[in-house]
Amino acid sequence: MLETTLAGSLPKPSWLAQSGVLWAPWNVADTALLEAKLDATRLAIAEQERCGLDIVSDGEQARQHFVHGFLVDIDGVDFARKRRIGIRNNRYEADCPTVTGPLKRRRSVHADEARAARAAATRRLKFTLPGPMTIVDTLANEHYRDKVEMAFAFASLLNEEARELQDIGVDVVQFDEPAFNVYMDEVPEWGIEALHRAAEGLTCRTAVHICYGYGIDANIQWKATLGDQWRQYERTFPYLDRSRIDQVSLECAHSRVPLELIALLKTKTVLVGAIDVATDSVETPEEVASTIRAAMKHVDAERIQPCTNCGMAPMARDIAYAKLRALAQGAAIVRKELGR
Ligand code: ZN
Repeated sequence: MLETTLAGSLPKPSWLAQSGVLWAPWNVADTALLEAKLDATRLAIAEQERCGLDIVSDGEQARQHFVHGFLVDIDGVDFARKRRIGIRNNRYEADCPTVTGPLKRRRSVHADEARAARAAATRRLKFTLPGPMTIVDTLANEHYRDKVEMAFAFASLLNEEARELQDIGVDVVQFDEPAFNVYMDEVPEWGIEALHRAAEGLTCRTAVHICYGYGIDANIQWKATLGDQWRQYERTFPYLDRSRIDQVSLECAHSRVPLELIALLKTKTVLVGAIDVATDSVETPEEVASTIRAAMKHVDAERIQPCTNCGMAPMARDIAYAKLRALAQGAAIVRKELGR
């Protein structure tokens, strides 16, 4: 009960990539790069287990970005043709590759690091993939009729990849869908159906992560415009609760999400964000415990997994791991109170 986990990404060692930025360039090249990525993956697993997490991840050490990392081995995505486009409903601009032809997975995208992570981990392993709606929101399209058609094409490729991850021994496949907090009307129209396509036939646990983004300036400014109460989840959780996805990862700590909204998830495992990734100030275990206790007023402890609000990729390493330690210690306090 109250098993701890993380949203997904962790900061990379500076010998692997420049620290403190998104889309950080690699500091290693050629064949040494693969070796370095796998070493960093094993290190991330060891660090998470040392912090006391129950369900660990590869930390996304082998990919440059949580969306574009999946696209590098997809035919039809042209990285030489990058366009600066507004993403997340123009919240910020990013240089995005262009889809110029039919999409096809050239090979396993993440099998190498999934195998390394599985071999290194003594605990359950989570692996993240970008969700279809978030992928098509982070790309330019010059081939498909519209973004929905393109999203379902990606969902098929994600399904191929997810099945391979499951065969490697991954226990939880999580799809990251921050776009679900932006295009709320489209979630019931096609977003959940696309997720179902991506998760089709999986027998491992499946999760969806829906957040208010990394702790970068553009997101912090956007959050300031959302008012006193962030009620985006209210629109989508009733649909997600009826979906076939097992778990929902969401943002709580220091956010203006009214906590009672998590009660809309009546049947799901709820990954409660008890660590704020937008501040370097490290939570105390007692602060984590009080976030968990607050969530327990709305969801049974049996269905709660204490988690981080979002990925930690842009943070300093020592701070990120100190936060994970606090997460595990905070959950332990509450477990003890409950006599477990
Ligand atoms: Zn997130």
